[in-house]
Amino acid sequence: MQTDHKKRVLVTGAAGFLGSHLVDRMLVEGNEVVGIDNLITGLELNLEDAKKNNAFTFVNADVIAPPETYLPDGFTPDLIFHLASPASPPRYQQHPVETYLVNSLGTHNLLQYILSSTPEARFVYASTSEVYGDPKEHPQKETYWGNVNPNGIRSCYDESKRYGEMVCGVHNRDFDVDVRIMRIFNTYGPRMNPVDGRAIPNFVQWALKNEPMQIYGDGSQTRSLCYVDDLIEGITLLATIDSARGETVNLGNPYEVTMLQLAELIKKATGSTSVLEHGHPMPGDDPTRRKPDISKAKSLLNWEPKVSFEEGLGKTVEYFKQTMT
Ligand code: NAD
Repeated sequence: MQTDHKKRVLVTGAAGFLGSHLVDRMLVEGNEVVGIDNLITGLELNLEDAKKNNAFTFVNADVIAPPETYLPDGFTPDLIFHLASPASPPRYQQHPVETYLVNSLGTHNLLQYILSSTPEARFVYASTSEVYGDPKEHPQKETYWGNVNPNGIRSCYDESKRYGEMVCGVHNRDFDVDVRIMRIFNTYGPRMNPVDGRAIPNFVQWALKNEPMQIYGDGSQTRSLCYVDDLIEGITLLATIDSARGETVNLGNPYEVTMLQLAELIKKATGSTSVLEHGHPMPGDDPTRRKPDISKAKSLLNWEPKVSFEEGLGKTVEYFKQTMT
């Protein structure tokens, strides 16, 4: 990897929720950044600020293809973040083939490109807490192998993320590529796609419109919620710290809420008169509990989330208020 301060950074999934924040962060640090996205779930609007910066180039392309086919002439990255993938259950179930290909073949093609063209480059792969499936261990440590349905309605996503981790592991162990895997837990904040069906955008929009807030099942299933700025800080550290080479690290906030509590908190934060509408059918294979054990991120990266849920939620509600007007 280039040793001077300025790096050539490639971000796949750049127009997505997390990718666009990561692009902004890489630009603030003075890097040259190329963002790739085919806009299957992302919005080019998310890159509005980045596009004002001469150090940023956006390419509308599918990263399932080999990078040689879409990288701008003369651009050889020395840091690659592979975030491209539909991420919310309704969206990856709508695009199952695209989802399993971008995480399997897309990851393979990027790592093969590193081997052939830029062997010193660093590769950071966006895996997910979904590799733990419906976990039987709580909270989840990186050493837990998970409890995943190999052929269920979420498998196009969680099994392909597991496959992507395997591809990273092979290239690290057998070909000595500098690979880092981040297992991202539920993250929220501005630029979440309002129509991608995740709990926070759904609840916030229903609450702002004073419409009934739909609760799946009895609402006792939990998620742990991390504000996007904290996550981006964790990703940046994982990509920077030399001793993280070859490591797999949970990134998320152990702050755990039930869906019922989440709906109540959002109702309060928005001053909404919405009613909670119970008993909507549970989505298939929905995990009942999720909470990261972040002791590895604390010791390896000296990282832990800092933004309180109240503060993060306030900023998220403001964002949705603006996008809805
Ligand atoms: P997102 O849907 O907002 O962003 C993903 C981006 O990838 C989109 O802009 C989409 O258009 C793009 N994309 C998908 N397939 C592509 C392809 N073949 N070629 C080019 N671009 C493609 O999702 P997000 O929340 O920003 O998630 C980013 C990454 O982080 C994903 O890999 C996701 O699995 C992972 N992740 C996110 C969360 C979370 O809470 N947001 C949790 C766990 C893991």
